[in-house]
Amino acid sequence: MLPQEGSLWLLRLLRDIQLAQFYRPIQEELNVTRPEHFEFVRPEDLDSIGMGRPAQRRLAEALKRHRLGLKSKNWVYKILGGLTPEQKDTTPLTDSPISPPEPEGGLKCLIPNGAVSRGELLGFGCFGVVHRGLWTLPSGQSVPVAVKSLRVGPEGPMGTELGDFLREVSVMMNLEHPHVLRLHGLVLGQPLQMVMELAPLGSLHARLTAPAPTPPLPVALLCLFLRQLAGAMGYLGACGLVHRDLATRNLLLASPRKIKVADFGLVRPLSGTRGRYVMGGPRPIPFAWCAPESLRQGAFSSASDVWMFGVTLWEMFSGGEEPWAGVPPYLILQRLEKDRARLPRPHLCPRALYSLAWRCWAPHPADRPSFSHLEELLQEAWPPEGRCVRDVTEPGSLRMEPGDPITLIEGSPDSSIWKGQNGRTLKVGSFPASAVTLADSGGLPATRLVQRGSPAQGERCRGSTDGDRVKAKLWDVPPARGQRKNMALPRMKGISKSLESVLSLGPHPTGGGSSPPEIRHVRAVPQGPPGLPPGSPLASGSSRQPGQHPWERPPRAKREPPQNHPAGAPTTTRATSSSGGFLPNPELQRRIKEVELNVHGVTHQECQAALRATGGDVAAAIRNLKVDQLFHLSSRSKADCWHILELYHWDLSAASRYILARP
Ligand code: AMP
Repeated sequence: MLPQEGSLWLLRLLRDIQLAQFYRPIQEELNVTRPEHFEFVRPEDLDSIGMGRPAQRRLAEALKRHRLGLKSKNWVYKILGGLTPEQKDTTPLTDSPISPPEPEGGLKCLIPNGAVSRGELLGFGCFGVVHRGLWTLPSGQSVPVAVKSLRVGPEGPMGTELGDFLREVSVMMNLEHPHVLRLHGLVLGQPLQMVMELAPLGSLHARLTAPAPTPPLPVALLCLFLRQLAGAMGYLGACGLVHRDLATRNLLLASPRKIKVADFGLVRPLSGTRGRYVMGGPRPIPFAWCAPESLRQGAFSSASDVWMFGVTLWEMFSGGEEPWAGVPPYLILQRLEKDRARLPRPHLCPRALYSLAWRCWAPHPADRPSFSHLEELLQEAWPPEGRCVRDVTEPGSLRMEPGDPITLIEGSPDSSIWKGQNGRTLKVGSFPASAVTLADSGGLPATRLVQRGSPAQGERCRGSTDGDRVKAKLWDVPPARGQRKNMALPRMKGISKSLESVLSLGPHPTGGGSSPPEIRHVRAVPQGPPGLPPGSPLASGSSRQPGQHPWERPPRAKREPPQNHPAGAPTTTRATSSSGGFLPNPELQRRIKEVELNVHGVTHQECQAALRATGGDVAAAIRNLKVDQLFHLSSRSKADCWHILELYHWDLSAASRYILARP
């Protein structure tokens, strides 16, 4: 078995102390993949895999050295899980866990920097900003897009942010579903940018919380969104992924009646027979949306996503309220487990849907419905639709006129007063049952109709009753963009307050003083793709000097530069003079241009520096820059990147796809 790239450091460390035979047991039986996991490994654990005490001492020494050696390292280390940049650079090719190129797929494309222009700011995420943009295709056609740029600090991007950003890319590029936001491609520029499908109407949360005069969303439309969401989440689960951040803020409106699941920064692969992901350390998670097992043990699964689905449903029907607002994070678990408390039924939420949410909040993950089952349950819980047959003007009643479409929220054949939403005015209230006939009722009582009101029917009903009139009402008054943005900021602030690690809870919810046992014997799946080296062009502005790595220094004066031009790369003659101000300006500019045209996402300055580093050799500069670009995308060593590029005949786009498909 090839070592997983995230744990190459472990293989190297064990090899150094002649204990390579323990690589597999340590990874597979103890589930150690990162240096910090060893803090939770006890001697008995090592005994159990057959490692003698002298070997354990050797290992402890090696780990100490490893830790000391890493102390001074920057953010790169944090996300590389132990591979220092130096180690990366000197990794011999023979160590490389590279499998042969596979057919293309995955990442849709690398998009040239100049092909995307950024416009209005759409929002702020955890690790960057999102702008509206325009992507000009080679055909000249322009496509409206959203561009998410990685935030870059003075020392480059934060390790975890970069890791999450790249993880999001590698997850999204493999997804294709009508209700999952589509990734168009990646710009390897400064900063790194994800080019995504634009959801022109913004987030569902912003829509739900948009102030008056924006009308509330119709109940029937919320049900439609829930069905779309259940479908998308079922798809994610089938892909072996857990989203972990399901909330209305991460549902985007692609059109008035279509949501898309977005924000895959916290997505993780499910692993093992139990199909779980257990957090490997303190990381922010959205407390108030989390299932008890996630809060207690850092454990996530499709069932914990189902729990979040229930909370998202609650958000939808409560107008985007923050769940458990005012309850301190450490008390949420206590409320859920000890008090068996659940979020209350929102005013707008039909009982059948609320009981569906309760099923999502079953204490034991195994008792919660799957997403495909949820789709069926939604069908059964679909609120019946009817039509007003007479004017209702009584004080205290929901006003309605004959012909108004009415969605029933509460009502039974026995009661004379029903509660519903007027599809024309979108107001909610009680009214005399006699004022409404239910669609296709044929004299059937409302209770039977609840069963009959399938989404398909509902949709048909809406098709015939909503019409343009209702749609126009809904979207006539879109929230002003500025408004939406202003709303989003304070909201984000509130939400981020509850984004704290479950592992760093203040007062422990269980009353215990230490981490839960699962955390102490943490068995994290390998972390996702690693990040960029310090001073990289993608990370920290233009200060990087490409080609200054030990193994690709500029040739000394008179020394012959490399002759092996890669296939597909131009074989332009190299400079005859030594490095420095080595070429007459027009010739230099011509070569810079040539390099620029051949390497995706590099700047003029980088090309110039690369040429200087290679003594003016265009082909070598191109190779070096391509290796750099690939290196910045992954945890691979430069030697690995070189090798991969060779395998792909120096096609950077294909090599990037290969690397991004294996985070
Ligand atoms: P994120 O970093 O994915 O959480 O995005 C931050 C915010 O940017 C979201 O809450 C949306 O308001 C906005 N946004 C993100 N992606 C898109 C998109 N594809 N289309 C429109 N708005 C978006």
